[in-house]
Amino acid sequence: MQPFVGFVYDEVKMQGQPKSLSIEITLRPHQGIRGRCSQCQRSAPGYDRLPERRWLFVPLWGIPTCFLYAPRRVECAEHGVVVEHIPWSDGKRPVTYAMMGFLARWARRLSWRETAQVFQTSWEAVYRSVEWFVEWGLAHRELRQIESIGVDEIHWGHGLRADNFLTVIYQIDVHCRRLLWVGKRRSEVTLRRGLKALGPEVVKGLRFVCSDMWKPYLNVLAAQAGQALHVLDRFHLTTHLNQAVDQVRRLESSRLRAAGKIQAERLKHMRWPLLRKGSRVRGRARQKLNALLASKMATARAWELKEAFSHLWHYKSVLWAGAFLDFWTERAIRSRLEPMKKVARMLRAHEELLLNWFRAKGEISAGTVEGLNNKIRVVTRRSYGFRTFEAMEIALYHTLGRLPEPESAHRFC
Ligand SMILES: [Zn+2]
Repeated sequence: MQPFVGFVYDEVKMQGQPKSLSIEITLRPHQGIRGRCSQCQRSAPGYDRLPERRWLFVPLWGIPTCFLYAPRRVECAEHGVVVEHIPWSDGKRPVTYAMMGFLARWARRLSWRETAQVFQTSWEAVYRSVEWFVEWGLAHRELRQIESIGVDEIHWGHGLRADNFLTVIYQIDVHCRRLLWVGKRRSEVTLRRGLKALGPEVVKGLRFVCSDMWKPYLNVLAAQAGQALHVLDRFHLTTHLNQAVDQVRRLESSRLRAAGKIQAERLKHMRWPLLRKGSRVRGRARQKLNALLASKMATARAWELKEAFSHLWHYKSVLWAGAFLDFWTERAIRSRLEPMKKVARMLRAHEELLLNWFRAKGEISAGTVEGLNNKIRVVTRRSYGFRTFEAMEIALYHTLGRLPEPESAHRFC
């Protein structure tokens, strides 16, 4: 099933006690075939033999299994005395390609810890396997036909230091949505690094770029992908509005409570109903919301502004959308609600980018960036054990990169 040219499967033995069994598969060189140089893979005369080594293979019937082989050293005309080329291993890790592919595929369905437990190996072995799988995929992926990208920041770990943020670049074309790049921090330097990794051909070929109003991103994208239409995406605008409403609610709540007013009661447990889309609030929450709206409290006015804003997305014409935006920001600025005023001023400052949404209509789907962000969160949470950025970076490419995969003789999942 899995022949290696120049090598022979010799002996297969079951070892150990019933509770700690292992299967050992010994290999030996084919007598008539010379070893090959590990540098250039050309066949070369033998030099000597190294001690026997072990490589972890796919467990059979749930029993840990390994390859045993004493590698030869060959004398290559060009490279001198070197270890021979071993076709089941990359020479760096004590795990066979077959096992690395096996672990890496399972590590997409289970957490790394679970994968290690189920297949009786270490977390480290799973990590190294996924790392190899991802490195192979990145080296073999094609970056063609990329027309739209989304750039976003992701919070990671505890705290709000610069190191707690990641910058991600997604491809958000209708035919392909995937993670293209992830890097530490969310500065101009980070994004420049990311665009460089994609290469000038990709960057110059972009037609649409989607991001939040984060200044460093806006600067870099304007400088490097000026030909692309820059769109502020709907998901981020909604987030800004929701945060403003929540801020109004918190300020009002503490003000009322400090003054001993009973209206403070109306704001209790209202955080989530207020953040949801109005038409989706039902039942008791709806009754409370209605009562709150009738009260003409500051929170109610903020909520109404937020709801009114969603009307913007119904427009088809850039002109009408612009007129609505002027009308809405005017209202928000006169509202005397500081957080809402702040959002309105921000929207005014970026009005052109916002209207680009209507110019790009149909080319970028509203839910894409949000959907990918949610998936990233699933990974960063599941991988709570990832203390290093490197491990998480690999996990993200592994689950969201849609990378090509190395061939393997067997498929187990
Ligand atoms: Zn050589």
